[in-house]
Amino acid sequence: PTSANPVDVLIVGGGIGGLSAAFALAREGLRVRVLEQAREFGEVGAGLQIAPNCTRILHDYGLLEEAKGLGVLPKSMVMRDAVDGSELTRLDLGDLEREYGFPYMVIHRSDLHGIFLRACRRAGVDLVTDAHVTGYENTPSGARVLLEDGRADRARVVIAADGLHSVARRLLVEDEPVSSAYVAYRAAVPIEQAGRDVDLSEVSVHVGPRCHFVHYGLRGGEMLNQVAVFQSPKALAGEEDWGTPDELDAAFTATCPDVRAGIPLMWRDRWWRMFDRDPITTWVDGNIALLGDAAHPPLQYMAQGAVMAIEDGWVLAGHVAARRAEDGSVDWRGALAAYEAVRPEHCRRVVETARAWGELWHLDGVARLQRNALLRARDTYDYSFTAWIYGPTALTPEEEPPMFTPIPLDSADVSGVPEPAGT
Ligand code: FAD
Repeated sequence: PTSANPVDVLIVGGGIGGLSAAFALAREGLRVRVLEQAREFGEVGAGLQIAPNCTRILHDYGLLEEAKGLGVLPKSMVMRDAVDGSELTRLDLGDLEREYGFPYMVIHRSDLHGIFLRACRRAGVDLVTDAHVTGYENTPSGARVLLEDGRADRARVVIAADGLHSVARRLLVEDEPVSSAYVAYRAAVPIEQAGRDVDLSEVSVHVGPRCHFVHYGLRGGEMLNQVAVFQSPKALAGEEDWGTPDELDAAFTATCPDVRAGIPLMWRDRWWRMFDRDPITTWVDGNIALLGDAAHPPLQYMAQGAVMAIEDGWVLAGHVAARRAEDGSVDWRGALAAYEAVRPEHCRRVVETARAWGELWHLDGVARLQRNALLRARDTYDYSFTAWIYGPTALTPEEEPPMFTPIPLDSADVSGVPEPAGT
């Protein structure tokens, strides 16, 4: 990067958050540069669920058809008990699409990342790799970033989309990622290797004591994506070396045959320890703003982490568009303030709900039975718990729908339900 070729916006981090924001701003006619530390742009990991609040934005960007061509539109999302395998509740995703106007999709991470990368190229975003940002500072006319190799770059505004371990976040808060003591194993394998009958028309979630297991199809059903998540006893004991494959095997021994059949397929050479951070309400420091996981890393139980990052860029670009004068100049102070007025509160709700959701999924004993009774009583077509997330992304606090308030567990009548053995 050279200051000889100045841009309006510098974006640090070329993950899904950074690239989608770069595209959104370039689409409004701004000159945008992305600085990515890696040697190449890419995504590790496997599948990603993208709910209607994300596919609505992809549609607005003109990218939904491309995504549909690469992803899968499952017919239903089914939650089952991981111990006895019984169904607890389901979403009819065809009806959900009618309700919200846009589909619920599952897609390979690298495919979604690739869609944004190509869109950025087409929109003329300057995409720079091998650029590790180590420092940020506001200047009278914008902001500057310092790179590890001694270079510097500047722009009117800097957006830090540098993920869970964000350097820029330190401008706003001195906090650390919060360990949940849970770890995720992933696998994306050709469907022939599934070793069992899998209904790829479903996104399936088995919830169990201190563990859960997710699977769904990818790439038009050619691949099976699996995620196995469990609480690590070694993490709870304070050991450094936690989340190892022996713990994976032990965590799922008491689960139903369908779940156990999936465990041997999990990748065993890498795993993802699950961290989030406590929500913060300030994301903007002068001409520097946080976006995506840098601002609001969640536990993944709501499947909204990447979705929130994409929403952030869409909201910011919306406010930029509304504050662009005829000569092309932008009232950045107003745009950043409008962004900060709406996104932190929405993301706080999601981050905190994801924590609560994780607790609900991982219950044991009587609480598990109470949860199961409540979920079984839920009407498939009752959308009261999804409306605040899957509806149109709010541009202002006034547009933000009221949050769903969960029903207390102890309202479930489980008298007469026997406690199953083994839990
Ligand atoms: P990141 O993807 O972390 O990207 C940050 C980028 O910044 C990286 O490219 C990094 O190399 C670069 N970078 C970092 N520091 C610097 C630096 N100093 N200088 C330059 N570049 C830098 N979300 C969903 O929406 N749906 C799901 O189904 C879902 N499932 C998930 C399952 C699991 C197991 C996990 C772990 C997460 C899941 N998520 C899901 C969450 C989602 O993956 C993240 O929220 C999302 O990827 C965050 O994107 P981001 O661009 O903000 O950050």
